[in-house]
Amino acid sequence: MGTIKDNKKGRLIILSSPSGGGKSTICKHLKEKQPELGYSVSTTTRMPRNGEKDGKDYFFVNKKEFKKAVKEGLFAEWAKVHNHYYGTARKVIDDFIKKGKTCLLDIDIQGGLQLMRSYPDAVSIFILPPSFEELERRLRNRKTDSERTIRIRLRNAKKELEYQKFYDHTVVNSILDETINKIVEIINKK
Ligand code: ADP
Ligand code: 5GP
Repeated sequence: MGTIKDNKKGRLIILSSPSGGGKSTICKHLKEKQPELGYSVSTTTRMPRNGEKDGKDYFFVNKKEFKKAVKEGLFAEWAKVHNHYYGTARKVIDDFIKKGKTCLLDIDIQGGLQLMRSYPDAVSIFILPPSFEELERRLRNRKTDSERTIRIRLRNAKKELEYQKFYDHTVVNSILDETINKIVEIINKK
């Protein structure tokens, strides 16, 4: 894998895809292998999954706390995704920008579009699953969601795929190592 040449200051790298596209897997690998990269920890009202840690995977809050943060303007973007609220705290990404760190964001399309408007220098990457059937297989094999949740996510995926045209780059996530290499190349090119 190539390494990130972090010679440009404080860039935001937006990764979006339908649920199951591979964003968290990609971010996890990049974090392990490219420790100089920053990773924006989002705030959400969804319940933690097995093994997820508050402050590391997400800041887990209740709806009341989330709405208060929205009112106070603490989010750079926020959205309701698959029946839960998710948001990126302004402070989290502004701290990375101030430190001159490249910061990865694993966020949905609504949030991606909001951030592209307010941070026009952000690099946006749409992660495409190799096929809809493979997306369904990966969502099921992940074994983190109920049948109902999987159905909601697959239904939403059909609509979400239409938004790839608004992203600077599209990467098909077939073989994970190749996907990661392509993302590293994109980050280095900017
Ligand atoms: P997202 O964060 O976009 O919802 P995940 O990273 O959780 O997606 O990936 C969904 C599932 O697909 C996980 O079980 C993950 O291990 C698997 N996966 C991700 N990328 C690949 C890949 N390139 N090949 C095979 N399985 C993959
Ligand atoms: P999950 O519940 O599987 O962790 O995430 C569900 C969806 O919410 C994914 O598409 C993920 O990218 C998105 N998401 C995670 N954090 C944020 C965020 O801060 N803002 C927005 N808009 N979406 C987010």
